[in-house]
Amino acid sequence: MRMRSPAAGGRDLREFSFEEEAPGQEVRAVERRVLLETLASKLPPGTISFSSKLKSIAEQGPDGTLLELEDGRQILSKIVIGCDGVNSSIARWMGFSEPRYVGHMAFRGLAEYADGQPFEPKVNYIYGRGVRAGFVPVSPTKVYWFICFNRQDSGSKITDPAVLKSEALDLVRGWPSDLLAVMRSTPEGAVVRTPLVDRWLWSGRAPSASRGGRVVLAGDAWHPMTPNLGQGACCALEDAVVLARRLAAAGATGRADGVEAAMRAYEAERWARVFPLTARAGLVGALVQWENPAVCAARDGVVIPRLVRLGPFLEHTNFECDLIEPAPQSP
Ligand SMILES: Cc1cc2nc3c(=O)[nH]c(=O)nc-3n(C[C@H](O)[C@H](O)[C@H](O)COP(=O)(O)OP(=O)(O)OC[C@H]3O[C@@H](n4cnc5c(N)ncnc54)[C@H](O)[C@@H]3O)c2cc1C
Repeated sequence: MRMRSPAAGGRDLREFSFEEEAPGQEVRAVERRVLLETLASKLPPGTISFSSKLKSIAEQGPDGTLLELEDGRQILSKIVIGCDGVNSSIARWMGFSEPRYVGHMAFRGLAEYADGQPFEPKVNYIYGRGVRAGFVPVSPTKVYWFICFNRQDSGSKITDPAVLKSEALDLVRGWPSDLLAVMRSTPEGAVVRTPLVDRWLWSGRAPSASRGGRVVLAGDAWHPMTPNLGQGACCALEDAVVLARRLAAAGATGRADGVEAAMRAYEAERWARVFPLTARAGLVGALVQWENPAVCAARDGVVIPRLVRLGPFLEHTNFECDLIEPAPQSP
């Protein structure tokens, strides 16, 4: 992992070695499309109904929950797992507040190198004042990059891909040439701009993650967090593993109240993981987006070169989804 300042063509602040400082740790960049296709390929064909946008959701008493889709289809469902992302309409229906904009936005892009990308397998970070950027190879032909920048309000959505890309390049004008080359190698349609948001699930104040043993939330729909620790998608995957285990164990008992109890147990187990991460990601974001020149000088001169320790910083990634014992079968 290499950290640089944008000054002087990209002055090195520090290079971290995972082998020396955090043995057993690694950063693994995975293209979202590849992850989704890999997960989907494990399911029997036809299990997933793609392009099925939810229009409305309503309780139907003991029959279940009625989902109405935009194409007019209706699905009466015994269990709904609301994993519809940061702008979840299911979370809204369950009484959750809108996610809070934290004052930073991100550009992301995926550069393409048909003849092979030229970079070492390293994460590259460049820290400016109120703007930071990074890039990392994700495959032999693709390199992911991002820019985080401060902005008071998230502004209106930009739909023109050329404008998006040029706005991103404007933010890092004069920054190290390797970053700029990666950004220029990105097809215009592969740049997105996202307001960064989170929702802190204060105990006793946030609604429950499940309703009546019939609807339960997972991933960003439940716990949107800022990307400063790189844990949002990881937590969504962990949620899926824990929830599936809990529901499978409840199903095996055949007890009517088992599913509701399983959803509550899932919520308690996962809250203990996702609440501290949401808070920590928010605090880290506030620190690394500082614009104050004196603070940035201290960061570049002392904190990064001398104080940061990779092992403790990545400690939150050491997580095992505990195996739970299957509940005994009912007679
Ligand atoms: C700049 C940035 C960088 C990030 N970096 C990292 C990182 O390095 N590591 C990491 O782990 N996480 C990272 N994340 C976070 C990660 O992207 C999310 O946490 C993750 O995508 C959440 O997964 P999800 O399945 O809950 O939601 P999503 O990935 O948002 O998926 C939600 C799905 O629901 C669908 N949907 C939405 N509304 C409806 C509807 N009405 N009907 C039907 N379907 C609907 C959407 O089309 C989508 O397919 C980053 C996020 C940002 C913004």
